[in-house]
Amino acid sequence: MSRPFERPSWDEYFMLQAELAKLRSNCITRRVGAVIVRDNRQIATGYNGTPPGIRNCHEGGCERCQQRIEGLIASGKSLERCICNHAEANAIMHCAIMGIEASGTRGAILYTTYVPCLECTKMAITIGIRRFVCLGDYPDDDLGLAKQAGVEITKIDRKQIEYWAQMLLDTSSNSTAAGSVIPTTDGGEGHLRRSFHFKLRSVIPTTTTTDGGEGHTNS
Ligand SMILES: [Zn+2]
Ligand SMILES: [Zn+2]
Repeated sequence: MSRPFERPSWDEYFMLQAELAKLRSNCITRRVGAVIVRDNRQIATGYNGTPPGIRNCHEGGCERCQQRIEGLIASGKSLERCICNHAEANAIMHCAIMGIEASGTRGAILYTTYVPCLECTKMAITIGIRRFVCLGDYPDDDLGLAKQAGVEITKIDRKQIEYWAQMLLDTSSNSTAAGSVIPTTDGGEGHLRRSFHFKLRSVIPTTTTTDGGEGHTNS
């Protein structure tokens, strides 16, 4: 039986890039990654953490984040004291640092591993982002302002990303479809993807929990 040739959709591909950026986060409360894409090309990348020249959050650079994980501050509170930049903000500032003109971000897409906060949403709308692609589950009300501005919202199921992440881990799939190492009964793509999801859960149990449980602030 021949197996289908597979590759990620554009949305999956760029969300994988955002997931990769997330690994460089230095924030102790949550890891978030973001990329900005125009015409299927990645023009900026960001992850959350303290600004350049400031001690990293995980090294004690942000007192608010420290107090947050010690339970002294509730999720979403005292954000004005947080010195960690959000991933989306860093991606947006990346555009400024690189001298990308306003016309370069107009109509672009923001991929982010969580739902953007209000501040980041405001900035994203302002530079002309027309679509948010976000990962995971969250209340739709968090995206009210973006919707009001006519920004298209797409949610990606984490399982889709786990599927491709597994392909990266699976060295035997380098030259063939990811499903080749998983015995299947029906050969259908949906079945292959489900098989991979279950396999991944046993390999990387933390994958589904890194973003969980901290409200909508990214911090
Ligand atoms: Zn932090
Ligand atoms: Zn934000």
